[in-house]
Amino acid sequence: MPRDLDLAVRPDVALDEAALRHAVSRAVGCGPDDVAHLRVLRRALDARRSVRFQLRLRVWLRGETPAAESLPTPPTFPTTRTGRPVVIVGGGPAGLFAALRLAEHGVPALVVERGKEVQARRRDLAVLNRQGTVDPESNYCFGEGGAGTYSDGKLYTRSQKRGPVAAVLDCLVAHGADPDIRVEARPHVGSNRLPKIVTALRETLARAGVEVVFGARVTELVVAGDRVEGVRCFDGREVAASAVVLASGHSARDVYGFATRAGLGLEAKAFAVGVRVEHPQAIIDRIQYGADAGRFPLPAATYRLATTVDERGVFSFCMCPGGWIVPTTTETEAVVVNGMSLARRDSPFANSGVVVGLEPADVLALGFPGPTGGVALQSMLERRAWESGGGAQVAPAQRLTDFVAGRSSGDLSDCSYRPGVRPARLDEALPAFIAERLRAGLRRFGRQLRGFDTREALVVGVETRSSSPVRIVRDGGTLAAPACRNVYPCGEGAGYAGGIVSAALDGLAVADAIARVWDE
Ligand SMILES: Cc1cc2nc3c(=O)[nH]c(=O)nc-3n(C[C@H](O)[C@H](O)[C@H](O)COP(=O)(O)OP(=O)(O)OC[C@H]3O[C@@H](n4cnc5c(N)ncnc54)[C@H](O)[C@@H]3O)c2cc1C
Repeated sequence: MPRDLDLAVRPDVALDEAALRHAVSRAVGCGPDDVAHLRVLRRALDARRSVRFQLRLRVWLRGETPAAESLPTPPTFPTTRTGRPVVIVGGGPAGLFAALRLAEHGVPALVVERGKEVQARRRDLAVLNRQGTVDPESNYCFGEGGAGTYSDGKLYTRSQKRGPVAAVLDCLVAHGADPDIRVEARPHVGSNRLPKIVTALRETLARAGVEVVFGARVTELVVAGDRVEGVRCFDGREVAASAVVLASGHSARDVYGFATRAGLGLEAKAFAVGVRVEHPQAIIDRIQYGADAGRFPLPAATYRLATTVDERGVFSFCMCPGGWIVPTTTETEAVVVNGMSLARRDSPFANSGVVVGLEPADVLALGFPGPTGGVALQSMLERRAWESGGGAQVAPAQRLTDFVAGRSSGDLSDCSYRPGVRPARLDEALPAFIAERLRAGLRRFGRQLRGFDTREALVVGVETRSSSPVRIVRDGGTLAAPACRNVYPCGEGAGYAGGIVSAALDGLAVADAIARVWDE
């Protein structure tokens, strides 16, 4: 019988098979040659005091043979029932996982997506990065796979639903993700691998008879009484539906307009706004790994920072070690930044959103009333950032030390953001409510991580789309909108998710809710 063992070991031991075998044999109380086979079940890098790998291992001793490890495979599907399809608006993680789960239930489904399929989308992103030209229908937020496709692909979630989280990770592995994501405490895919996974998911959906229609921006819900009959697209074509899943993501601001026209309830929710901070990766490695930086082939170091300033959270968000800052606006006269990285995480930069949590009352006090006040605030800040950058997606930036001191930067250090950065007073462009808290937060972060508040770090603006400022109201039990009983608000744009995995989980939950109605 194999035994499971928790072990904390230095990198030189964790990364060397023979040394690890020795450490295991000491822990088990046998000789190194008695350890026949090791399997890593969980791996976490802990750099809090000295660098250690926390491993959970399964150990087989001499004479014991491990059963072959079976990897997850794409799901199989029952025969699809007859009837109008469930129309899923949006092919992001929420929409794709809803479609997969509906197919598993044998419920017919169709995905309508305003953007393009991943390869065509890749070309539009190249133009965006090189020329600063934004295609409002094909960008970092819109297109096959949603905002997650060209993201960092971090797959951490605060969700406690471990079983379903494992199911999401298994599904990604079945479609081409590295099986290690099932082992790593902080799994990550990388934006060079995500497009292939998204294509494979589409192929699986096609086998189940689920089509994904591209270039189909939905502009209206076709409503009769308290039920939806279908959706209308921008070109007038109508698609009949037995139910509609609204999984349109946090950047589809037009969706809130047609949701309101269809009588769905909207409410303002808390969200966060701030800047992206970028350091040379070597500085973060030195801070986190100390003398071990460069001694072992350790992954690019990460950090996670949080504090409270005047009753509002200030925190780092979506940290991308070895990554790039990317232009993630969906509008032509706006600048929004976010971060991504490749699987290798080998760019010389480390970036992270540093944002201030805003309550609906804060947004109102800043002069933006109503359920979509947060969207109006985001738009105002994004437009200001575009003006400060001077167009072509050039982003306003300031040295972190100048931002904190409240002075302009005469010059800027190197930055990964391809359309380019230009010195600007970001501390003045942001409302004082946000800028003052960011300043105090960044000062504290400099004490928490010695060297974080270096002159070499930049703040780049603006990071406004960290989450949705609006919730489309739904019933907690049926997951449907009370005003339209077969419309299912879903994922991040509807206010029920905040990342790839949580959006996928919400898609699964909504699909299960719809299948229950079909079963009845
Ligand atoms: C650059 C970047 C990096 C990120 N990094 C990470 C990360 O590392 N880890 C993480 O967990 N999260 C990350 N995120 C956030 C993550 O991508 C989102 O939380 C997640 O994609 C939300 O999933 P969703 O399905 O709810 O919405 P989305 O992924 O936004 O998908 C919505 C889809 O709906 C489509 N759509 C919108 N309106 C319409 C319409 N009217 N008609 C038809 N289709 C429509 C859009 O084109 C889009 O494809 C990142 C986001 C960005 C932009």
